[in-house]
Amino acid sequence: MQTDTLSFINPATGVKFGEVKMTTPDAVKSSVDEMRRAFPVWRGKSVRERVRILRKFQQLLIDERDEISRIVNQDGGKSRQDSLIELFVTVDMLAQYRWNAPKWLKRKRVSSGLYLFKKCYVEYRPHGVVAILSPWNYPLLISLSPILAALIAGNTVVLKPSEVTPATGVLVEQLFQRIPELAPFVRVIHGDGKVGAALIQARPDFVFMTGSTGTGKKVMQAAAENLTPVSLELGGKDAMLVLEDADLNAAARWGTWGAYYNTGQACMSVERVYVVESKYDEFVRLALRYTKELKSGYSPEADSSFFMGPVTDPRQVHIIDEHLKDAVEKGARVLTGGKEQGAFYKPMVVVDVNHSMKLMREETFGPIMPIMKVQNEEEAIRLANDSEFGLAASIWSDNIERAKQVANKVEAASIIINDSIAQFAVPMLPFGGIKNSGFGRTHGRDGLLEFTRPYSYAIGSAPIQWDIATALRELGKYDLATAIMGVVYGTTLKQKWETFSQLFRKKPKVKSEGKPRQSEPVKTSE
Ligand code: NAD
Repeated sequence: MQTDTLSFINPATGVKFGEVKMTTPDAVKSSVDEMRRAFPVWRGKSVRERVRILRKFQQLLIDERDEISRIVNQDGGKSRQDSLIELFVTVDMLAQYRWNAPKWLKRKRVSSGLYLFKKCYVEYRPHGVVAILSPWNYPLLISLSPILAALIAGNTVVLKPSEVTPATGVLVEQLFQRIPELAPFVRVIHGDGKVGAALIQARPDFVFMTGSTGTGKKVMQAAAENLTPVSLELGGKDAMLVLEDADLNAAARWGTWGAYYNTGQACMSVERVYVVESKYDEFVRLALRYTKELKSGYSPEADSSFFMGPVTDPRQVHIIDEHLKDAVEKGARVLTGGKEQGAFYKPMVVVDVNHSMKLMREETFGPIMPIMKVQNEEEAIRLANDSEFGLAASIWSDNIERAKQVANKVEAASIIINDSIAQFAVPMLPFGGIKNSGFGRTHGRDGLLEFTRPYSYAIGSAPIQWDIATALRELGKYDLATAIMGVVYGTTLKQKWETFSQLFRKKPKVKSEGKPRQSEPVKTSE
């Protein structure tokens, strides 16, 4: 159905609570153009000045906490508390960036090598106009944290929030409009994937996309047309490994939390669990106990007893049901939980699973914890790595050294030991993926520098003879170059001496023939 508006529909109740007009392709283009014109003004401000302005935004976010949590709750169905946690993590990220950015973005002096009379620097300059494409599962956090990092780094921004949670997109737009010193440097456009595609065609200078692997590939392909650099934060199939010496109670308690938090709609949700056989039965018993304690439902109140809300995107219900059906057809058993009314599920523990099932290979993004028995640690590692994804993983063991060794062998870019999913909320830890989970980083110093490009400077007066590297520009310095290379970089004393002594070898006299030799024409066989 072709429509030029996006309706705000509460996924828990099905009730419409507003709408927004989709941005036309022409308006998308003019947003990018406008942000390109605004870029020199924002970039012209010092990092400290930008940070000072963003302090006002931080204040606004905290002042408006109740209104923000109310809209996020209506838009995605998650509890008010979980909505507030999104804001909490955003504020934490912003505070850390404000404190650290002046240091991280400072020009850095680097060694000038053999050019002893030059000074060399790296400067982190903003890209220009950054396009941000965000998903629906953390519509506030994953829109705001890249916007704020991009702004601090000196970019202007065009955001295209998810069409599944458009009310949060409008909220973000309004929040920026309320700070007059920020309003000219951020634009929000509204719409679906087509509007996102138009944004890439409008030639921003950098694209930061968070979403599914399939969309990530399309975004990268489209960006390649203009060689626009991209950062892709994509899906995952995160493994949890429970070793013999794990605290099983804690693993079950926080493993189930990590599997069902946000109704399993987190890129680093626990999506599959491998438990060594000696601990398998006990772990399953405990996981069932904790799973059965969790209630699903919806409340617009600040305090509610519902741990899980509905599935936010109606399309996701189909994927969850399909993965479950495929697993059951191939022999899996659902020990607890299942579908309830509308978009609600009771959290599910599924056993007798194997890697022929979609449930163990594709991103489910729903409230299911599939548990698989493995012989030992080696098999757990092998199965954890038998995946096209590589976002995050969790390892449970009371022996931290052992857990670290296992972590070293697990192919995931972000690993947590003895907890689940919490590393995403640590502002100083870079987050991102390997394999089909994407590339590029968000959060921490690496996440901030993602919104910059290093520019280099070598500065000095005109070349002088005393500069070693300059001396080698003259012809006839073959032996001097050999000696310097050997003395500076030779790996043994013998090599250093041999190369140095070449300076004093007797050179055969070259007879001058009066005129330069002509090179022989190259003969080619017919
Ligand atoms: P999605 O891929 O459907 O959409 C992401 C964004 O891209 C949306 O704004 C969408 O409108 C836009 N888009 C869609 N098609 C486009 C196109 N052709 N060109 C440009 N833009 C386009 O993802 P989603 O369903 O909104 O989010 C869920 C996915 O996000 C899951 O796979 C989840 O794992 C992933 N995710 C990853 C991280 C991470 O940090 N790695 C964090 C959160 C979510």
